[in-house]
Formats: sequence, structure tokens, C-alpha cells
Amino acid sequence: MTTGWFQFLTQIFKKKEHIENMAKPNKKAPTSTVNIYCAKCRTQLYKYKKGGKGALVKCFKERISEDYTTTPCHCPGCDSMFARDTLVRGTPAFKMIGGKVMMK
Ligand SMILES: [Zn+2]
Repeated sequence: MTTGWFQFLTQIFKKKEHIENMAKPNKKAPTSTVNIYCAKCRTQLYKYKKGGKGALVKCFKERISEDYTTTPCHCPGCDSMFARDTLVRGTPAFKMIGGKVMMK
């Protein structure tokens, strides 16, 4: 009886932990630092610790290691707007506007 309850609670705890891990950005995923440039004038905008591979859709602010912009979301070189300030799962981030930035 007691063992049964313990197993039951352990299962619930494991399930909860699993759900919490799903909600967080994966900290174990390999990150690589990439340079982000304005697609129009090639001015560098950020150094960013990007997780995983694939296109740059959004930038979490906490992962930006160097910020070269003077006005948020605007290129310091040509003043064009390249991103929008947003929240991704409650974390402040910039959502990149398609075609405005390039990544190296
Ligand atoms: Zn620019």
C-alpha cells in the first residue's frame, strides 16, 4: 500500500519535471556564436549564441553576447528596422523580419 503510493507520487513528479523541461529552452543543446548583420548595409548588429541549426527566426535577448545597435531593432548603419520586440514563451526576444538580416 505505502509502496504503491510512493510509486504513484514518483510518477507524477517525473511527469511534472518532464513538462517543465519541455517548457524551458533546452540548455543542453549545443550553441554556437554567430554574427548577425544587416542584409542591406552589412553593418554588424549582434553577436548571438544560437542554439541548434537552421534559419535565424528569433533572438533571445539573454543570448545576445554583443549588441552593436543603438536603437533596439534598428540597424545603426542604415536605420532600417530588422526585428520586432516580442516575448517567446515569456522570455524577451527579438523576432527577425524576413530578409532583413544575415547570419555568418
Ligand atoms: Zn543596415
